[in-house]
Amino acid sequence: MILHIDMDAFFASIEQAINPRLKGKPLIIGSRANKMRTVVCAASYEAKALGIHSGMPSGEAFARCSNLEFVAADQAKYIWTSEQIFDLLKGYDLPLNYASIDEFQMELSGYQNPVSLGKEVQEKIYANFNITASVGIAGNWLLAKLASKLNKPDGLTLIDDSNFETVLRKAPLDKLCGMGGKNGAGLMAKGIKTCWDLYLNLPAFFNENPGKFDENCGKSDEKPKSISHSYTLPKAQINPQVILAWIRLLSEMVSVRLRQKNLVSATVHLWLNGPEIGNFGAQKTYQAAVNDGYEIYQRALKIMAKSGLENSRVRAIGVTCAGLSRGIYQPLLREEIRREELIKALDRINNRYGEGSIYPAITAFTR
Ligand SMILES: [Mg+2]
Repeated sequence: MILHIDMDAFFASIEQAINPRLKGKPLIIGSRANKMRTVVCAASYEAKALGIHSGMPSGEAFARCSNLEFVAADQAKYIWTSEQIFDLLKGYDLPLNYASIDEFQMELSGYQNPVSLGKEVQEKIYANFNITASVGIAGNWLLAKLASKLNKPDGLTLIDDSNFETVLRKAPLDKLCGMGGKNGAGLMAKGIKTCWDLYLNLPAFFNENPGKFDENCGKSDEKPKSISHSYTLPKAQINPQVILAWIRLLSEMVSVRLRQKNLVSATVHLWLNGPEIGNFGAQKTYQAAVNDGYEIYQRALKIMAKSGLENSRVRAIGVTCAGLSRGIYQPLLREEIRREELIKALDRINNRYGEGSIYPAITAFTR
């Protein structure tokens, strides 16, 4: 059995818990501080009731409700709360996994009364943080996540053999993980409107579902200490275009491996070797851990700029990412979301057509 915990309107609820003046009011969290020119990244249940939802331009939200409350997103606060909840759940000593910043999964093999455990988890979260969570319990990850969405907020839903059909008949297809976007819309257009319709057409989807519980969860020591790539040029180069192109390419290669392992890195290390400079190595640690090749490249460039070696002959280059952690980072800013979608699209193209099918133009200087 899997117990899936999904926090209710997480960012908005945190703000309402901290500031009682916002309680019970329609509230949006904006990804930027300019309240009329940003995007809703979370809406309180009071705002949701007015048809306001995340992804909506804030101007549109204010058009629907002129006395809407507004708070600019404070990512550090949400990550901190998420980590505190994770620590609280660790107390159960059951296999535990982050599904996202506001979703957690526990595995309950052989647990006698999962429903009472679910209730206890909800009560503990509320007692400690003054915010509510919805809980779903089912035989696998996909169904548990679906169950958590069916009675929001503060809901608890169990799917087992006795109610499987009834629950799935009532569950619209787009509540199912992976069916919210185009996939779901395509199937719905073909008449597959509920989860039960999908089950009748594709029962395997519910059994061998793609999001099965990650058995490595909680064993964070299994992650590597660092990931690096290096390259030795055929001869020493002084052309900065070629050197930068290689730093970019190596940064991209490291970032692909980080993403494959679902890791983010806080520390970038740049290594250069050349006939005049010998071995040079320096690193820098940032607060925000990333797995975007462009950002890693930018960080490596800052190290390079500080080194004063920009006009030196270079024979070999290495980029290393250390300070690794599991990627629970959820982008909030519109530009970050755009970049994340871009990176996912690039990874999909390279996975399908082979590594290097699509690459940043600057790396052409390495060919
Ligand atoms: Mg949630």
